[in-house]
Amino acid sequence: MPTFEYAPAPESPSIVDIRSSYGLFINGEFTDGTSGQTRKTVNPASEEVLAEVVEAGEADVDAAVASARHAYERVWNGIGGSDRAKYLYRIARIIQERARELAVLESIDNGKPIRESRDVDVPLVAAHFFYYAGWADKLGHAGFGPDPRPIGVAAQVIPWNFPLLMLAWKIAPALACGNTVVLKPAETTPLTALAFAEICRQADLPPGVVNIITGGGETGRLLVEHADVDKVAFTGSTEVGRAIAKAVAGSTKRVTLELGGKAANIVFDDAALDEAVEGIVNGIFFNQGHVCCAGSRLLVQESIAPHLLDRLKRRMALLRVGDPLDKNTDIGAINSAAQLQRIRELSAAGEAEGADRWSPPCELPARGYWFAPTLFTGVSQAHRIAREEIFGPVLSVLTFRTPAEAVEKANNTPYGLSAGVWTEKGSRILAIADQLRAGVVWANTFNKFDPSSPFGGYKESGYGREGGRHGLEAYLAH
Ligand code: NAD
Ligand code: MG
Repeated sequence: MPTFEYAPAPESPSIVDIRSSYGLFINGEFTDGTSGQTRKTVNPASEEVLAEVVEAGEADVDAAVASARHAYERVWNGIGGSDRAKYLYRIARIIQERARELAVLESIDNGKPIRESRDVDVPLVAAHFFYYAGWADKLGHAGFGPDPRPIGVAAQVIPWNFPLLMLAWKIAPALACGNTVVLKPAETTPLTALAFAEICRQADLPPGVVNIITGGGETGRLLVEHADVDKVAFTGSTEVGRAIAKAVAGSTKRVTLELGGKAANIVFDDAALDEAVEGIVNGIFFNQGHVCCAGSRLLVQESIAPHLLDRLKRRMALLRVGDPLDKNTDIGAINSAAQLQRIRELSAAGEAEGADRWSPPCELPARGYWFAPTLFTGVSQAHRIAREEIFGPVLSVLTFRTPAEAVEKANNTPYGLSAGVWTEKGSRILAIADQLRAGVVWANTFNKFDPSSPFGGYKESGYGREGGRHGLEAYLAH
């Protein structure tokens, strides 16, 4: 077979203008905050410091919530759905105009390949704002009563795996429904949220409708526990989700939680194998596996397992790991040293518990945080790598003989966010999907997202739905 050498195809970082420091975005202005503390965000592909951001303290959280309250009462709740839609359409169009800049900035701060930030994240961000702009003046027809009302001020805390997309999932429906927001991005990926703050100014969004405050877990805790917040929306780890549920229990705050997952990707013996291999690869290696709905447990029917694994290994050997800004890169950098440490620890546990570890030959850059695509076979349901969310490019393979056994194994997890089914039989897709305890079930595809489709979990994956008409409900009083 001829071998193809790829020439480097780097996207230029010159389109982004990263400042050395950033303030908090409160009431339409950037301020230095009052805590006097800052934190650095780095490029995980080079470990180079990109910028310093403010660590918002209690007084800053107070100011941000007060700004959102004021904007809610004086402007946003009263202007009506069609005016709110105009702002949301304007934001969506500016995101499209600045798409290349946002994609590069996301890849630099997060480590994800430019191919994904450019072709998946940023287009979906714009699509979410367009989609919810469309709902803003039609809320009376959404199925939540003839005259649904907003809830008030929303506290929104998001993770680092899809920084701008999680912001869009949170802010677009909140604003469409007439709420105002205070959003806190994750500590390792604040830069696109701060760019979004500039976009709000560019769109002439009334001050205070969107407030962006940076900081770590303590800032997040102060925000969600703030007495003048009416609604809490959180995406992140099950552990923090549990702490938030406890903290708001007994208050009148409405809560949605989108937490972890350990999805089964089930391949039956009649599946189109080349397509299934692509779906398995996309399911676990997309975004370095930093995906809550990742297909991290491959369940393959025993009769085709050796054959499928051969093909999968051949495909994995073609994955290109490296510079996130290179357009040929499939797997970028792991988001942080802490996450890399966690992936290493769980992979070591997989070996120690007796599973067989395999990675293709793969040269990793000397600086930065990297992890080779990894496959574990001989995995049992009791192994930690079959039970715990690794949140990295690590796939655990289990086998099954009958459809009933596949369902039993797929559901044998405390999580319930997503699942995949690969088979040629339509009737089997329907029967299996019906029995899977997962919020999203993909059939003969994986990791497909659309703003019109609801997303969310069962069990320890959280509650509430984001996206689609269902996603409006979380931001409407009823
Ligand atoms: P995390 O839950 O600690 O952080 C998510 C967000 O919550 C961040 O913005 C963080 O600053 C904030 N936060 C932390 N403590 C808080 C508190 N007490 N109150 C309010 N906000 C708080 O997640 P992480 O440390 O970034 O990642 C740990 C694990 O979480 C990962 O290994 C992965 O398993 C999981 N995770 C899941 C998702 C998802 O999309 N479901 C996303 C990221 C991480
Ligand atoms: Mg960063």
